[in-house]
Amino acid sequence: MNSKDLFERSKKVSPGGVHSPVRSFASVGGTPVFFQKAEGAKLFDVEGKEYIDYCQSFGPLLFGHRHPDIADVVRETVETAWSFGACEPYSLELAEFITSRIPWVEKIRFVNSGTEAVMSALRVARASTGRNKILKFDGCYHGHLDALLVKAGSGLAGQSSTDSAGIGEEMIKNTLVLPLDDESALEALFQKEGDLIAAVIIEPLPANYGLLIQRKEFIQKIAALAKKHEALLLFDEVISGFRVGFQGMAGELGIEPDLVCYGKILGGGFPVGAYAGKAVYMDLVAPSGPVYQAGTLSANPFGMRAGLACLKKAWNENPYKTLEKNCSDFTHELSRIFDRYTGIKWQAVSYGSLFWFKEYSDTSIRNLTQIPGGHKNNFAKLFHALLKEGVYLAPSGYEVGFLSTVHTKEILQETLNKAESGLKKEYSK
Ligand SMILES: *Cc1c(COP(=O)(O)O)cnc(C)c1O
Repeated sequence: MNSKDLFERSKKVSPGGVHSPVRSFASVGGTPVFFQKAEGAKLFDVEGKEYIDYCQSFGPLLFGHRHPDIADVVRETVETAWSFGACEPYSLELAEFITSRIPWVEKIRFVNSGTEAVMSALRVARASTGRNKILKFDGCYHGHLDALLVKAGSGLAGQSSTDSAGIGEEMIKNTLVLPLDDESALEALFQKEGDLIAAVIIEPLPANYGLLIQRKEFIQKIAALAKKHEALLLFDEVISGFRVGFQGMAGELGIEPDLVCYGKILGGGFPVGAYAGKAVYMDLVAPSGPVYQAGTLSANPFGMRAGLACLKKAWNENPYKTLEKNCSDFTHELSRIFDRYTGIKWQAVSYGSLFWFKEYSDTSIRNLTQIPGGHKNNFAKLFHALLKEGVYLAPSGYEVGFLSTVHTKEILQETLNKAESGLKKEYSK
């Protein structure tokens, strides 16, 4: 078995050979690696080669692969029940654990993905306000629901155009798009259409087109305008929730959203999403209210129990400060190695345990259009030099990387050594 053969076979039976586009390596070129198993910070491919993993399944694995504390409850779940499609205590325990620790989460509904969470939360916002328009920001990703697969339109400020085939203009006619980091555009749009907006949705830490750390004042402005115009503030914390701190970015910023979406870490590595918020909004959801939303496998015991084990561990061990320092020190050192060999000056952008490498710039990048043009190709070469040496980053220059608690000092040092030798070989050719 090797990755090349498996990829050829996969292309015959699945579009592009994958089940989610970034996995195909389209952004970095070459054949995607097929992995067979994983443990802690390590991945092992189908040919037996070992990698240190900084993709961590795109974020869910705060404690690395198959952490024993989580593995234990997964084993117990195998012995008790896989799915009921009925009431059970596991989702209740998880819901209570979260609602008792995050004040703006009074009620929570579990679903199976981040996309589903966002889609449902928007439905609640529309029902609650009786309005139709949704404001999003260019450079934030909220999953693949039709209404949000949009980019900024070329015409008037706020206008959107579709970002995928198969989405008619009528699906996005109520979606407004603004650039990040621009208070005056925000004010102008609210002045014009504020009273038609059901919700403003934002990743309070945009981490899906690089890591575009926002000024707190910008997020505060959004919150203030939403409040003034009685639009709901919806934080998409699918990636930042339980990652930058237990209370996510809302906790870091001290800004309370009306509704919030979670995913990724929430399921401890199993497919779980959730939408949540103040009871006045969440009580609109069926069967207590008129907003329909359901799911055959929702609150699946694997996800609920793994999620609870993961969140309990996060709450009890509070790994966030250590992760933040390790991430910042490590990525800074790694970028100095990149500088030495690539002929480009790099910059490590990090927040908590999320990181992103980009070419150095004097000013912070907070907006999609500021990402340098050659970035994709510069990253691709770097990615492959590291991959050969057994260091796995997410296979796109626009995806962020993650540190987990299993990236020990030794593993981080091993990574630096591998990077040094890999880049020396690759760039001196
Ligand atoms: C990953 C992500 C999503 C989508 O979640 P899926 O589980 O992939 O559907 C939505 N919003 C943000 C901010 C994300 O990072």
